[in-house]
Amino acid sequence: MSFKLTYATMFNPPAEMHARFDEALRGVEQALGARHRLHLNGEDVAGVEEDERRSPIDQRRVLGHFAVASANQARQAVEAAHAAFPAWRATPWPERVRLLKRVAALIEERVYLIAAALTLEVGKNRMEALGEVQETADFFRLYAEEFEEKNGFDIPLPDDPLEGWTSHNRSVLRPHGAWVVIAPFNFPFALAGGPVAAALVTGNTVVFKSASETPWAGRLLADCLRDAGFPRGVFHFLNGSGNEVGQALVHHPRTAGITFTGSFDVGMRIYRSLANGPWPRPCITEMGGKNACIVTANADLERAATGIVRSAFGMGGQKCSALSRLYVDEAVADALVQKLKEKMAAIPLGDPRRQEHWLGPVTTRRAYDNFARCVAAITRDGGRVLAGGERLNEGELAHGFYVQPTLAEAPQTHPLFRDEMFLPILMLHRVQDLGQAVQLANDSPLGLTAGCYGSDADLAYFWENIEAGVTYANRPQGATTGAWPGYQPFGGWKGSGSTGKAIASFYYLAQYQREQSRTVV
Ligand code: NAP
Repeated sequence: MSFKLTYATMFNPPAEMHARFDEALRGVEQALGARHRLHLNGEDVAGVEEDERRSPIDQRRVLGHFAVASANQARQAVEAAHAAFPAWRATPWPERVRLLKRVAALIEERVYLIAAALTLEVGKNRMEALGEVQETADFFRLYAEEFEEKNGFDIPLPDDPLEGWTSHNRSVLRPHGAWVVIAPFNFPFALAGGPVAAALVTGNTVVFKSASETPWAGRLLADCLRDAGFPRGVFHFLNGSGNEVGQALVHHPRTAGITFTGSFDVGMRIYRSLANGPWPRPCITEMGGKNACIVTANADLERAATGIVRSAFGMGGQKCSALSRLYVDEAVADALVQKLKEKMAAIPLGDPRRQEHWLGPVTTRRAYDNFARCVAAITRDGGRVLAGGERLNEGELAHGFYVQPTLAEAPQTHPLFRDEMFLPILMLHRVQDLGQAVQLANDSPLGLTAGCYGSDADLAYFWENIEAGVTYANRPQGATTGAWPGYQPFGGWKGSGSTGKAIASFYYLAQYQREQSRTVV
């Protein structure tokens, strides 16, 4: 029996889902330590060196040895993708759609195995890992179906009679060429798979670079594409550092477009680099978040506290959509803080391989070290820790990157209201009213997600004024997190996203194509 994961099953998984995850995890753990290669021009190949990766759950567990590409291999990949482009572009689009659906089916066949690997590599709990894999399959299918529904983006326009001759007109969207996809470590499967699917179905060829911290997820995606049977040269997978392999991809003159998902600083650097070429090339940058939630005096505090805890601490605060700033009406602030503390104390924290643990470790040593720095900065710069604040290193947690979910109160001028931490630290500030809350929420160069708990009138004001691409209101499932393809289009405003066209939205695929108007008499 197989399950199709949906948003509903994520919140209420059947028992058999757990049994199948446990079985897959046992199999994956028995095979740890294998060697993994790159995928270049239709072949699985070695890199110039190998990187030994260990699990954030327990640093003594070696996950595998991953080939690392050179800058030269990155250049070869772009050239091969450029060479394969004309034939792929000319491939009838129903064939491209068929291959995407084949990838979706392969991902679903392997959902438990891939999710088990994600738990071991990233430290996600099983439902988050399963959700990410299903989301990726959904991206492949959604984009394939959208391409079909839009008839390959070939749209007839009105005839145009002039001087006794009639012009017959069409608008056709055409691909750009060799498209580079650069992925982050936090959703290393879905945020690689989504852009790869979009670029391929629209007729571009693809060079994909995974984040250095998560090459396993990248390799597992490459396996699905390889096994689906894409023609040689259409898809390439590289693992390698951003500064070397990433920069080689960005600066290659044959790179026709880029989808980057990652931090603001790196994204802006790539965006500027691409603008410096011989002509402007498309650059989709999905960047950081410093997401705010507002709780007004009219809010249902129980519902608000539930949504806030899920969004601030789920996946250790390492979602771009994670809740990081909380603006609470002073009339209800004490009551809300009390509820948050109770819910935080009840969070099941521990080895995420176990069904009962909702919160696992942070993914990287960098994040683990940064947690201590941020907690020290809370008090140093005029704030106070209300709950949490410790790194956990006793018993079975001693060898992983475990930290406590943390709530802190500080003035709005505190630097941690400005900087993206990417940690389970929630900064709280008391406000006089909704107007002040919205003004403070908007006082950020980033504008990814935002949430509000309040009355209908509060929500109307929030939506009219908030500067964020993804918004939620009165939602217990998550104050600022939990978008699902086909339901919540996902993309940032301001410094969170370069195009304002969201992932899995009606407008997304158009960004991978350029318009050609065709007139014939
Ligand atoms: P990151 O450090 O910016 O890295 C992202 C990717 O860029 C990695 O593959 C990285 O390679 C590569 N890279 C780094 N420097 C580069 C350079 N100079 N040229 C080309 N590529 C380069 O981000 P991260 O830490 O992996 O991910 C967390 C960030 O992503 C957060 O800011 C989060 O908000 C953001 N994010 C945004 C979204 C969204 O949809 N808006 C979704 C998820 C995450 P290396 O790994 O080798 O450094």
